[in-house]
Amino acid sequence: MTVTRFAPSPTGKLHLGHAYSALYSEKIARENNGKFIVRIEDIDKTRCKQQYVDCILDDLNWLGVKWCDEVLIQSTRIEQYQLASKKLLSLGVLYPCFCTRKEIASNSDVANRKLHNENNSLYPGTCRNLSDEEVSEKIRKRIPYSLRLNSAKAKEKVGKVYWSDHLSGLHEVDYDVMGDVVIVRKDIGTSYHLAVTVDDDFQGVNLVTRGLDLFESTHVHRVLQSLLDLDIPEWSHHELIRDSAGKRYSKSDQSLSLEKLRESGVSAKDIRKDLGFD
Ligand code: GLU
Repeated sequence: MTVTRFAPSPTGKLHLGHAYSALYSEKIARENNGKFIVRIEDIDKTRCKQQYVDCILDDLNWLGVKWCDEVLIQSTRIEQYQLASKKLLSLGVLYPCFCTRKEIASNSDVANRKLHNENNSLYPGTCRNLSDEEVSEKIRKRIPYSLRLNSAKAKEKVGKVYWSDHLSGLHEVDYDVMGDVVIVRKDIGTSYHLAVTVDDDFQGVNLVTRGLDLFESTHVHRVLQSLLDLDIPEWSHHELIRDSAGKRYSKSDQSLSLEKLRESGVSAKDIRKDLGFD
């Protein structure tokens, strides 16, 4: 049975881009006699707000989106993400990184890579080869750290793997695009990548539907699935909806929210029709 999901982060109100994504996912499940679920990705407590969770569910109901099961709230699952990161640690594919954002940004190596438009890891690897003594010393000094994936080690363990997208075909994991990505953030004990991978598996999602903006993250998720011995889903990365000026909708831009459209008298039926559903 096909299981799809819509997994918004409650960092703002839903806009037309989200509406498209939710309707797209629901439609695929319906067409396949499958199941469509909703998950709230609220691990980033500094940016997520309960008021947005309420708004999101209210907007989805108004839009007529129907989901199965209870809505899963990621902040209730931190222990599961910790178990997964322990497993990755035991495989030796994570290392602690003590760098601050500022240090990473000012590294000339990074500037060079940007200049040459090489898409490999933006992290210059400063902490990749710290000795055990150096790590212990920094931990003793209570310097906060994240855990990064050692992409070279991950490549050694996982090897050549592929992922399949219903819209764009088969893709080989590109370890350079992925780089030494952060798997456990300093502040929240997990990351989007880890939480989404663990939860898609936990909820039996076998068709991950989301916008093309997250296409490159899929390399990371595919590798984590192999390392954690999880089932491998398929993906469908859809086009991003743009406004009349050709600009992508975004929460930070204060794009027109569904709530505002609703208040101005636009009906759910109009929105579904405008977005190509119904
Ligand atoms: N929570 C993510 C977001 O709102 C989407 C996660 C996903 O679809 O994989 O951008």
